[in-house]
Amino acid sequence: MSLRLYDTASRKLAPVTSTNGTTTMYCCGPTVYRDAHVGNLRTFLLSDLVRRVLIANGVNVKLIQNITDVGHMSEDIESEDKMLAQAKAESLDPFTVARRYEASFHIDLAGLNIEKADAYPRASESIELMITMIEQLIIKEIAYVGEDGTVYFSAQAFPSYGAISGNRLDALKPGHRHEYSEDGAKRFHADWALWKSASGRSEMIWDSPWGSGFPGWHIECSAMSLHFLNSHINLHVGGIDLRFPHHENERAQSNAITGNESVDLWLHGEHLLFEGRKMSKSARNVVLLKDVIDRGFDPLAVRLCFLENRYRSQMDLTWASIEAADATLKRWRKKVQAWGTQVAVKDQVFLEILDNDLDTPKAIQYLRNLEKNDDLSNRAALFLFADQILGLDLNREELIKPLTSEQEEILKLRQIARSEKQWAKSDELRIELEGSGLEIMDGPEGQTWNWR
Ligand code: AMP
Ligand code: ZN
Repeated sequence: MSLRLYDTASRKLAPVTSTNGTTTMYCCGPTVYRDAHVGNLRTFLLSDLVRRVLIANGVNVKLIQNITDVGHMSEDIESEDKMLAQAKAESLDPFTVARRYEASFHIDLAGLNIEKADAYPRASESIELMITMIEQLIIKEIAYVGEDGTVYFSAQAFPSYGAISGNRLDALKPGHRHEYSEDGAKRFHADWALWKSASGRSEMIWDSPWGSGFPGWHIECSAMSLHFLNSHINLHVGGIDLRFPHHENERAQSNAITGNESVDLWLHGEHLLFEGRKMSKSARNVVLLKDVIDRGFDPLAVRLCFLENRYRSQMDLTWASIEAADATLKRWRKKVQAWGTQVAVKDQVFLEILDNDLDTPKAIQYLRNLEKNDDLSNRAALFLFADQILGLDLNREELIKPLTSEQEEILKLRQIARSEKQWAKSDELRIELEGSGLEIMDGPEGQTWNWR
């Protein structure tokens, strides 16, 4: 078996491909003008899970994730760069803002046990790559310089536009909101800017053959993915909102350059809601990983919550589900410790559950069943294998609170009651122990206990 995932373009499950034994992956990274919220982190976790499953299947992976620090225009303030708007609001240099939020992004990834990508190229440091690509597109007559000095991609010059999102050009109405609004200078309403002329802007601008300006957001991902992954991407990952126009435009640009299908599989993660609502500043329900930590929860409880839902379904995160996941993590860690020192053993059944379009809810249920199966002698080994993919630090030592002398006394009495087959008394004592926070298990070796 090998990993199969749902490809947005073909609308089918498809095997993840590789090139010369390595799967090349590109995951759209953060726009570093603010802290990533837990929704963004759900999408970033998706590429980590895919990579871990591929590695467990014996496949090499090269993962690139970009840092968007220029060119991403704001949706609410038409044509204002998100980075510049935030820099103005904080009275700081835009690059200072970018570096600060980029650092927070890496802290959040570490908190969620998301393993590092092979490289995190910054858009602002890849301008040459983008300029070269735009020049090639102009030579191929797929891009043109508009009357306003901005370079546009000509959507009509790319016949299979719409293959990912289903948004074919003939159905796209003029006035549909696109990345830039200079409809006057464009030859066609669905064309988009590859290079935007500075026109009055004084920060985050670069020289180019078309005058000073800055790149569009979509060209950034084409340039970096093709450059760092040797002109072919086996698997491209992002949140569902990026399907259109970002990925549609990226596909058009990249394919126009390479002359073939540059990406084998387009994977999209569904959005996260918080307490039933879309996370937004105006709804004041934006939750950051540090909010979770401030409430005393293990950030990996959020990771477990994400795993309990399939990446392709919208999910609702709540404080109650984080609390429950936090308790499950503590219990599992104690059990792995109590089951004794073992080394991870490859569990093919577990791996095949994940190979089937990352069925993480089923994988978690599988572990819950293992947990209850007292006849198995290698539960720690199986949990530790699962943890290589799930990344929940199940091998972490949880401090085991000592028993009170009263609990020790009751446990002794219960042991005696059981040896004398006084079942009613044994049950009574168990209830008393449970009331004090213990969980009691009766096995062939006698009674054992855990803190709940
Ligand atoms: P941004 O930093 O806004 O460019 O977004 C980074 C990533 O997070 C992109 O892949 C988005 O698609 C994704 N994303 C944005 N909002 C959510 C959400 N509520 N749930 C899951 N992913 C999201
Ligand atoms: Zn992107």
